[in-house]
Amino acid sequence: MLEQLEMILKEGLAALENVKDSAALAAWKTACLGRSSPLATFLGDLGKLPAAERPLAGKRGNEIKRALEAAYSAREETYKAADLERALQSHTLDVTLPGRPIRRGRLHPSSLVLRRIYAIWADMGFQIYRSRNVELDDFNFTLLNMPPHHPARDMWDTFYTTDPGVLLRTQTSPGQIHAMKAYAPEPVRVILPGMCFRYEQITSRSEIQFHQVEGLAVGPGITFANLKGTLADFARRMWGENVRVQFRADHFPFTEPSMEMDIECFLCGGKGCPVCKYSGWLEILGSGMVHPTVLRNGGYDPKIFSGFAFGMGPERIAMLRHGIEDIRYFWGNDLRFLEQF
Ligand SMILES: [Zn+2]
Repeated sequence: MLEQLEMILKEGLAALENVKDSAALAAWKTACLGRSSPLATFLGDLGKLPAAERPLAGKRGNEIKRALEAAYSAREETYKAADLERALQSHTLDVTLPGRPIRRGRLHPSSLVLRRIYAIWADMGFQIYRSRNVELDDFNFTLLNMPPHHPARDMWDTFYTTDPGVLLRTQTSPGQIHAMKAYAPEPVRVILPGMCFRYEQITSRSEIQFHQVEGLAVGPGITFANLKGTLADFARRMWGENVRVQFRADHFPFTEPSMEMDIECFLCGGKGCPVCKYSGWLEILGSGMVHPTVLRNGGYDPKIFSGFAFGMGPERIAMLRHGIEDIRYFWGNDLRFLEQF
C-alpha cells in the first residue's frame, strides 16, 4: 500500500522534470493533483483499507500531497517571473509619446469667499464651529424663539424629512444653540459656516441650497456698540480700509434689537448703479443682540450674559463682487462659469 504512494510521489516529481512551460505545468497539476489523479483516488479510498493501515496511509498520503503542491508552487513562481520578463521585452515602453495633460482644478467661487471670510474672523479671534446639516425642529426653530405655530416660521420654506421633527436646516442659526450648549457657561466667540436648504422655487435670485456664515459672541457685558464695531471692522478688512457702512433697524425672532448692515456700493462708489438699485448701498448681513430667550435656551443666564449674532451669505457676496447675475450658476456645474475664478 505504501509502496503505491511512494510511486505516486516519484512519478509525479519525475513528470515535473519534463514540464517546460506554464501550459504543461497546468496539465501536470490536473494529472497529479486533480480530482481524478491517482493520489486523489487513493485518499478517497482510504476508508476501504483495513483499519490498522488507515492512519499511516492517511498521514503519508497527505504528506505526499503537500510535497507535490510545494513542487508545483515553486515551479509556478519561476514561470510567472519568466512570463513577466517576456511581456516586458515584447511590449516596450515608448517614451517618445507625449504625456496626457492633467486638468488643473481650482476652488469653487463660494469656497474662495468662504476662505476669505474664515481668515478675517480668525484674525479677529473667532473659531470655526461646524454644525449639522440635518437638524431637529427644536434647534432650527423652537429654541431660537420660534415655538410651533409661530408666524415667523413662515419666513422659511422648509424641507421636512419623513421623520417627524427632523428637517434640513433652513439657516445656520441652530448652530448657535449647539455652540452655546457646548461652551456654557464659558464665553463663546465662533463663526458657524455651512450649507442651508430652503424649499423654494429656483430662480436667478433664489436657490434651494446656499451657504451661510453665522457669527456668535456671548460673554458678560457684550454691548450693541461691540456688535457695530466688530461688523464695521469686518467690513473694512473685507472690502477695504475706506469702506463706509450703515446700519438699518430690522427684525429677527432670535435677536433683539436687530439690524441689517449695508456697505457703500463698491461698484459705483455710492453714486448709484443697477447693482445697488441706485441706492448707493449694498445689503450685506443681518445681525442683532442675542434674544434673552435664546441665551437661556443655550444655557446662559441673560442677567449676567449678553451677546451678539450675525449672518451673511457668501454666494451673495461673491455675486456682488464679481457681478454674477444668476445664483443658479453656483451649483450648475458649468465649467465655463467655474473656470473664471
Ligand atoms: Zn452701486
